[in-house]
Amino acid sequence: MKVCMIGTGYVGLVSGTCFAEIGHDVVCVDNDEEKIKILKEGSIPIYEPGLGTLVKKNVGARRLSFTTSIREGVEKSLFLFIAVGTPPKEDGEPDLSSIEKVAEEIGSAMNGYKIIVEKSTVPVQTGKWVKTVIERFSKKTRDFDVASNPEFLREGSAIDDFLHPDRIVLGVESRQAKEKLLELYAPIDAPKIVTDIESAELIKHASNSFLSTKISFINAISIICERAGADVLKVAEGMGLDKRIGRDFLNAGVGFGGFCFPKDIKAFISIAAKLGYDFRLLREVDAINHEQMLLTVKKLEAMLWNLKDKKIGILGLAFKPNTDDMRFAPSIIIIRELQKQGATIKAYDPVAIDRAKKIMSDIEYCTDPYSMAQDVDAIILVTEWDEFRGLDLKRIKKLMRQPVFLDGRNVFDTKQMKDLEFIYAGIGR
Ligand code: NAD
Repeated sequence: MKVCMIGTGYVGLVSGTCFAEIGHDVVCVDNDEEKIKILKEGSIPIYEPGLGTLVKKNVGARRLSFTTSIREGVEKSLFLFIAVGTPPKEDGEPDLSSIEKVAEEIGSAMNGYKIIVEKSTVPVQTGKWVKTVIERFSKKTRDFDVASNPEFLREGSAIDDFLHPDRIVLGVESRQAKEKLLELYAPIDAPKIVTDIESAELIKHASNSFLSTKISFINAISIICERAGADVLKVAEGMGLDKRIGRDFLNAGVGFGGFCFPKDIKAFISIAAKLGYDFRLLREVDAINHEQMLLTVKKLEAMLWNLKDKKIGILGLAFKPNTDDMRFAPSIIIIRELQKQGATIKAYDPVAIDRAKKIMSDIEYCTDPYSMAQDVDAIILVTEWDEFRGLDLKRIKKLMRQPVFLDGRNVFDTKQMKDLEFIYAGIGR
């Protein structure tokens, strides 16, 4: 089947490549000329494990191509997926101007029946607007359907998440769109839930909000654990064994970040407000998350006495392991707060340094964890990259000015760190 993926970012490039992998003809479109140039030259513009190989394989098989022209993609394809960004505005509302622009261009390029599918995370009722805009701008034909197919992939394991998802959600308003979408996804063995468009749009926001709530919940519990002398890892284990709760997303840490959770809960709060509901629960989830990052800095201050003129090493910058994505990364808020208190920063991340440099030019970037540890007064582990688990901690300790280690993701064992004579703290332990 012929697929056009409009927006070739983390979601669009992975989804387009995976559609090609399951046998469809895919053209990925982006208005970022540099990105398309990189892809045409055979490289990929983001870090995502396994993606480079899969792109190469499907380009070689002539099932995957790239262009900057929406018209070209629209004319060739039956499915037009919209996977452009929906970043938050100042007030937390999502900025849907890219979606509108794409809908205009689709409308004016349509040359026959098309199924326009929202893949981006959008507020409920966006489908209605997409339909209206396409109708207003369509010149030759008004024969089309709009559908919603929210994406649940996670950066770092995106290919596996796309090809082996827990579920595929299809929001449709016609039998034809339903049948075609089921045919498109037929090679993927997963439960397929077919709903109306509004319910599909809401499933995405409700899911992300629920997962964010779980994280803020365990972070709140971690504070109580510290004050009560309990261990949040044990508490999470005990809770997680209850099948109604589950262990996933019960990892206490410095707070969540990334391009989805922080913006999606803010968007959901504003969507609810527009519908006349004050989503107080989510406002608290958001506030607890922000406080958790500031509490991390307060905790380090308690370990060091004063932060002014201290040199702090940051281990891990990306918002989570296995990605170079720095959007809304907790490291940014923690570093800014440390700098506000007068500290200077050294940092190491296995893949996110180039992106971090564009956001923070006033820190010292290091090429490995050991040069980062040299002469620092303390280390905060912010991102739990696997490679950090194998660090030579004795060597790290020798290099540091003071052996203060704040483990923001509970990667290390408390006893082991104390035996190594670190002044060590985790989160909620
Ligand atoms: P991204 O910024 O990586 O990609 C968006 C792409 O769209 C960019 O390459 C941009 O150049 C392109 N674009 C913007 N306007 C365009 C236009 N008018 N024409 C053509 N291309 C245009 O963003 P992303 O992380 O892929 O997220 C996309 C959407 O998917 C968002 O709504 C996000 O919330 C949602 N989502 C993201 C993830 C994730 O893990 N990143 C997971 C699920 C859902």
